[in-house]
Amino acid sequence: MERSKSYKELDSKYYMQVFTREIQLVRGKGAKVWDDTGRAYIDCVAGIAVCSTGHCHPAVTKAICDQSRELIHCSNLYYVPHQAELAEELCRITGLGRAFFTNSGAEATEAAIKLARLSTKRLNFVAFTHGFHGRTMGSLALTHKPAIREPFEPLEPRCTFVEYGDLEALAGAVDGETAAVIVEPVQGEAGVILPPEGFLAGVREVCDRKGALLIVDEIQTGMGRTGKWLAIGHEGVSPDIVLLAKGIASGFPMGAMLAREGLEFHRGEHGSTFAGGPLACAAARATIGVIKGLLPTVKEKGERFRGALQRHSPRGRGLMIGITVGERCQEVQHRCMEEGVLVNCAADGNLRLVPPLVITEEEIDRAARVIDEAIG
Ligand SMILES: *Cc1c(COP(=O)(O)O)cnc(C)c1O
Repeated sequence: MERSKSYKELDSKYYMQVFTREIQLVRGKGAKVWDDTGRAYIDCVAGIAVCSTGHCHPAVTKAICDQSRELIHCSNLYYVPHQAELAEELCRITGLGRAFFTNSGAEATEAAIKLARLSTKRLNFVAFTHGFHGRTMGSLALTHKPAIREPFEPLEPRCTFVEYGDLEALAGAVDGETAAVIVEPVQGEAGVILPPEGFLAGVREVCDRKGALLIVDEIQTGMGRTGKWLAIGHEGVSPDIVLLAKGIASGFPMGAMLAREGLEFHRGEHGSTFAGGPLACAAARATIGVIKGLLPTVKEKGERFRGALQRHSPRGRGLMIGITVGERCQEVQHRCMEEGVLVNCAADGNLRLVPPLVITEEEIDRAARVIDEAIG
């Protein structure tokens, strides 16, 4: 195909080559996507746990189109249509006090770093091995993977890394200089790693004892992915700050930092030109409406998916599923693609399945059959 050849040539010559990719997706509907040759795939990647309402959900498309005819951007110098209503809705479903919107996950992490420093007057952070919190300089400082962090050192803020799941080590690392501990309730980029039972309650307890804030990074786990609005909702633990992004607006770029009552930025302490704009907020409100209806189905769909893959010992919560495949992970990913199923290798040979929450039972069964055969 002449056209497909030319975009690949242009990409290799003009775009910075930080990604590895084979196909171009041009259309999506529900849990299905199509490439530029017309091939269909069941999408178990969903733009990396972003397109939870499925591709181009009519309610989301309508909200974006309607708002784009009224006002696309106005800055935060004025009250923004849909912004306050969205903040209220997010506070209600998460039980937190106030919201601040961002354009991405990393920016939500940055906002939390600033808020934690400002409100505790402490400088340092504690994070966990294999954790991921973003790639901007501040969020990268809290991200563990040495290969992506070390080339950019020295980084701020100072961060101590503790083994994920090790409460004793955590208690030793958090001290009077620790502004906050940041933790994922299920580690996503690491390959869907679940913490030991009671771990998150233990992290809360250590934070309380040492006067540090607890930041829960729900950028991947939040917005219904695990069957509740927040994954921390399975644990009965109350964070000081919650970060959201990926699934929040069905693919329209957006993030949010939510903080408990009394923990907040004041006039001039933070800001953004684009964040919380009319299109993003309209898309997020429509997204929440759709997820509300899907939420009761997520647990069962996840169990069905894991059940069908049982012989590979899948783990996870809701529609966030990991399978340790090892060295053959890339090969399995490629085989699945050839058989019409998109999956993704996260860190350390862990296959990650994060399909749209609208995925049907039929699609789950088909995808599981293909994945099962590909792993062999
Ligand atoms: C994806 C992700 C981020 C970073 O989000 P970006 O929008 O890519 O900046 C941070 N934390 C977690 C847990 C994530 O999964």
